[in-house]
Amino acid sequence: MSVTKNDTAVLKNFINGEWVNSNSNQTLDVPNPATNELLTKVPVSSKEDVDLAVAAAKEAFKKWKNVPVPKRARILFKYHYLLTENHEALAKLIVEENGKAYKEAYGEVQRGIECVEFASGTPTLMMGETLSGIAEDIDSEMFRYPLGVVGGITPFNFPMMVPLWMFPLAVACGNTFVLKPSERTPILANRLAELFTEAGAPNGVLNVVHGAHDVVNGLLEHKDIAAISFVGSQAVAKYVYQRAAAEGKRVQALSGAKNHHIVMPDADMDKAVQHVLSSTFGSAGQRCMACSAVVVVGDNEPFVEALKKKADELIIGNGMDDEVLLTPVIRREHRERALSYIEKGVEEGADLIRDGRREMEDLPEGNFLGPTIFDHVTPEMTIAKDEIFAPVLSLLRANNLDEGLEFIRKSRYGNGATIYTNNAKAVRQFREEADAGMLGINVGVPATMAFFPFSGWKDSFYGDLHVNGKDGLNFYTRKKMITSRFDA
Ligand code: NAD
Repeated sequence: MSVTKNDTAVLKNFINGEWVNSNSNQTLDVPNPATNELLTKVPVSSKEDVDLAVAAAKEAFKKWKNVPVPKRARILFKYHYLLTENHEALAKLIVEENGKAYKEAYGEVQRGIECVEFASGTPTLMMGETLSGIAEDIDSEMFRYPLGVVGGITPFNFPMMVPLWMFPLAVACGNTFVLKPSERTPILANRLAELFTEAGAPNGVLNVVHGAHDVVNGLLEHKDIAAISFVGSQAVAKYVYQRAAAEGKRVQALSGAKNHHIVMPDADMDKAVQHVLSSTFGSAGQRCMACSAVVVVGDNEPFVEALKKKADELIIGNGMDDEVLLTPVIRREHRERALSYIEKGVEEGADLIRDGRREMEDLPEGNFLGPTIFDHVTPEMTIAKDEIFAPVLSLLRANNLDEGLEFIRKSRYGNGATIYTNNAKAVRQFREEADAGMLGINVGVPATMAFFPFSGWKDSFYGDLHVNGKDGLNFYTRKKMITSRFDA
């Protein structure tokens, strides 16, 4: 499979249907996180590159917005077919540049395809509303229109799913798009653009500009960008939200997380252990819906013991190996950051009951860190407050559900939360009082499907309309009201 359309070592940008070199000479290495072997280099594009892409998208918008909605949707049907046909190859690419396990990557591709499925329903989704007789001989109608050029900025941890949260729906609604993928996982973005073109997307409808801050700032301040969709870490999300809003753009900025799982004394303990383990250590803890704090309710030593035992049995290694659950983190610097949090946890008095640092030497080439578990963590400790985004778990102890819910309320984040219980009363109390946007009842990763909105509360989200579902449709369209008199 051709990955990038470039035979050279540096990836190209995709502008107006052409693979073009960036204006900048600066590049960043893109290594495989499991081996640190160089896969390719990514250009650190300049604002001039952004200007070219936005100009192409602006020009393409003039025609694209008038392409009949069913015809736009048909391109998505073809795209769906091509993604499905390339499902395994795309998953392998994800493993290579992101490092996650093949099974996880295969699931991510599936999640991406579901977004395209949802966007294929745009002719129905975009329907407006009418009311005859709002006054004598007067009717009212509402039509939906695209916004113009939309900018999308995405993180490394879901290189397929997150871009597909954005551009298929945006484009199906008649917008054109400039994507700035993570500079740490840029290869897949080019493949997505390549397949989109093969599906029949006209030149300039989807453009890809690689790079870092300059590209992001170029999009945020560009007068011809109507809206920004962002997914990434908290400080950047807040910056993007404030900056884009100050420029008068519509913006949705999905941010960091600290997801709590409450284990009630009546829960099925084997299942709770299994869900907590795969939620915490799958994708090396680099999921915005990963469990990173478990609230153990009551004196539940068997749960803690079983969790520790199963963590000892986890197989660590390269994601292409079927048996492996715990894969590397994205970069060495990212592991250094996680290690400093482990030191902080010890310093602040938490009990390090499983130290994943011991496995680091077994696989020296990659960015591996073994499963790490702290017990008796309090909500005031740094490891309980910050998003670590690595295989590091905090166990907090609570006397009852009220206390557990209070821990969730104290967190600045509110992306997801889960309860493990068979008690209906506890389920209801959790559903009503847990301070987070996506809840799981006996579900380890309660990520919603494409026809529902996806996002969190508090510092996990800045904006109004979430991604996907009807929120996504509302984000990528604007409404026009027509009032007509028929008495003439
Ligand atoms: P990141 O914030 O480092 O990068 C995200 C994007 O922002 C990238 O395209 C990057 O180039 C750009 N960027 C980074 N720093 C910037 C700066 N200073 N100025 C301008 N642009 C900048 O995030 P990441 O490490 O790639 O991804 C992991 C983060 O994303 C985690 O915090 C995770 O929780 C979050 N995330 C959230 C969701 C969600 O649904 N809430 C989903 C996926 C990931």
